[in-house]
Amino acid sequence: MDRERRVGLVFDDRYLTHNTGLDLIDRAAPYPFAEPIAHPSSPILVGRAKHLMDFHGVAERMTRIPPIVASNEQLSLYHTPEYLARVADLSATTGGDTGEGAPIGQGGDRVARLAAGGTIAAVDAVMTGDVDAAYALVRPPGHHAMASQGMGFCIYSNAVIAARVAQRVHGAERVLILDWDVHHGNGTQAAFWSDPTVLFISLHQDDLYPVGWGAVDQVGIAEGEGFTVNIPLPAGTGNAGYRVVYEKLVDPIARQFDPDLIIVSAGQDGSVFDPLARMSLTLAGFRAMTVAMMTIADACCAGRLVVTQEGGYAPQYAPYCSAAVAETLVGLGPGAAPIGDPYGERAETQPASVEVGLDAAHAIDRALAVQRRYWRLEATPG
Ligand code: ZN
Repeated sequence: MDRERRVGLVFDDRYLTHNTGLDLIDRAAPYPFAEPIAHPSSPILVGRAKHLMDFHGVAERMTRIPPIVASNEQLSLYHTPEYLARVADLSATTGGDTGEGAPIGQGGDRVARLAAGGTIAAVDAVMTGDVDAAYALVRPPGHHAMASQGMGFCIYSNAVIAARVAQRVHGAERVLILDWDVHHGNGTQAAFWSDPTVLFISLHQDDLYPVGWGAVDQVGIAEGEGFTVNIPLPAGTGNAGYRVVYEKLVDPIARQFDPDLIIVSAGQDGSVFDPLARMSLTLAGFRAMTVAMMTIADACCAGRLVVTQEGGYAPQYAPYCSAAVAETLVGLGPGAAPIGDPYGERAETQPASVEVGLDAAHAIDRALAVQRRYWRLEATPG
């Protein structure tokens, strides 16, 4: 892409009001600590990411896209009427769990609809050509939400609904959803399990959450067989292992699928500091994954790329990763220095950053063996 890339940013202060309630660890009384531990899905995460984008001049070079409040009709592209009614009922009282570990507070339905509507607005802006790419810095996240219940901090399945809008409203025939959140995107997988028009690729820590989802042999069914690509990776896989996954699996599969739009479910909980997972990605790893997806988008679909926020729970680090993703999308301003790793560039010399571990190599081999049934792929990882 020769000309300057126009990149949109969806953000709304109301995202910070999504209330997850008490901590999920040791919530039984009596509370074991003098100071309560905040719920991991805290407003600090996206709030700090936005601050970093502001302080480093990233946000000012992005086009602000206001989120919409997703309608019943839009949410019904995936969710059942019974579930929408349940969320509305909880929201009208003092809140509660929308399913399995996905709490909202009073009035939380509107914030969740703004999150889904933020991702829809980003897709609208990209599909109409107002911008080339967009970052939807939304909250609550979406990729665990099932048709009939919330799960894992997720209320509405933001990426699923936005992909359906791209197809139904904007005429996209094929949409790629690449999910690099460290957990498996079970809601997205379930939505497109038998659908060959949406390719779902998930990179995640093997057998982490939800249990039973995301095994390498879960490939879709019927017409959709081969259009769900699960790449479970062992704990500790870092930048080096992920680089090989993008080169040997994500890039060739995505190009053969040839999408009209790419949506990235971007959780920054694969970071080396995350309390809820055991991956070893650094800021540089998130930059590299962003470049990889931009390269595919440029090759396949005129750069059309929507990044939507999922998880990421290290308050001291995940915001830097999110801001670095946005900075990579929009590019550096004149004379600007890139956002640096707050804990120093020495992370780039840790083993997982420079070499592929044996366990990771075996996992990549297994994924290649399965995916070779559906896609033209090289014989062995590098
Ligand atoms: Zn996650």
